[in-house]
Amino acid sequence: MVTRVPVARPDAIRRHNLGLLLGQVHRHGELTRAELTQRLHLSRSTTGALVAELTERGLLDERVPSGGQRAGRPSHVVGPRRDGPYAVAVDVDITHITTAAVGIGGHVLARHVVTTADGPCRPEAAAAFVVQASEALSAQIDPGAWPVGMGVSVPGTVTRHTGMVEFAPNLNWRHESFGDMLSAVAPRGLPVTIGNDADLAVLAEHLRGNARDCTDVIYLMGRIGVGAGIIVDGRPLHGHEGHAGEVGHNVVDASGPLCHCGKRGCVETYIGDSALLTLAGREALPTPENVAAVFADAAAGDQRAAAAVRSVAAALGRTVASLVNVLDPQRVLLGGSLGGVLDFAKDDIAATLEAYSMSATRQSVHLEAPGLGDDSSLLGAAELAFADLLVDPVGSH
Ligand SMILES: [Zn+2]
Repeated sequence: MVTRVPVARPDAIRRHNLGLLLGQVHRHGELTRAELTQRLHLSRSTTGALVAELTERGLLDERVPSGGQRAGRPSHVVGPRRDGPYAVAVDVDITHITTAAVGIGGHVLARHVVTTADGPCRPEAAAAFVVQASEALSAQIDPGAWPVGMGVSVPGTVTRHTGMVEFAPNLNWRHESFGDMLSAVAPRGLPVTIGNDADLAVLAEHLRGNARDCTDVIYLMGRIGVGAGIIVDGRPLHGHEGHAGEVGHNVVDASGPLCHCGKRGCVETYIGDSALLTLAGREALPTPENVAAVFADAAAGDQRAAAAVRSVAAALGRTVASLVNVLDPQRVLLGGSLGGVLDFAKDDIAATLEAYSMSATRQSVHLEAPGLGDDSSLLGAAELAFADLLVDPVGSH
């Protein structure tokens, strides 16, 4: 009996290698041909041919470094180009919509922010803002640059393959086909992909932020709502429907404060922005500015503000303890306003984490701020837009 083994054709191998090489530059920035040859375990001539093709296709640039070289020919440096591909990355937050042009390497080339502080906007209006912003952005960057796709971060549960936002309680969105709305109006027929903000934040931190060296990491995102992006064994944890990580709506006290989701005593009613403002005695909208004012006042010695941050820190420590007990991560990144809690009250978080987690797992976990600051979700959204290009740089455009 003859067994037929499927063999990858040379064309498929070449395209696969083009994707790997482009991915190396995307992840690590400028690299010499010699470094690429070594990292990809290819021959020098194969690397040279791949670089030549990616350069010819306008995806990368190659230059000969000037000066500083000793004997021998300098190795060419391969990197992103100003007139190359870019992602339209969108971060929909409750009070802001940020749209950015992000180049290969995760560089923000230009950004546009719309404030929606009067209240969360409807998805149709959000889609219109995004289209206006992406047109404004294209006028701000190199006229030769070209978009490959649109990636969108939303603070809610998202079914990625349909682009459906199932439930974003703080936006008051329920079962909204936001992906279809954006696809219908996206400039140049750009493909649109949507993801959850915390899922995208952990993706970006794992690729180029403070979780680069981790196989197991949790990004706990706290804004008005609270959610987790989780990587286990180096892979994103999405769950069956892609809805995993809704830590903010775990109920810790069924008779607790009313949550936007309709239940009582959810985690985010203790550690979200509204909880912090209430504890600080402020009847203010939960905007980033008002939340930042509580942290600033706490640091300046305001007793009530300091007590509010400490109270949130204690509840946050218990939340992290539950996650650590289940997932045993190396690192927990605290993003959004939880980064402010970490700054002011790391000891309080650590004390409750100590008290409520199993000690063996707790000892190995580190609490840190995100390396990409407030841009983690935005840069994760760019990764959604780049995904097809990085798998097959030839077939995707
Ligand atoms: Zn809830």
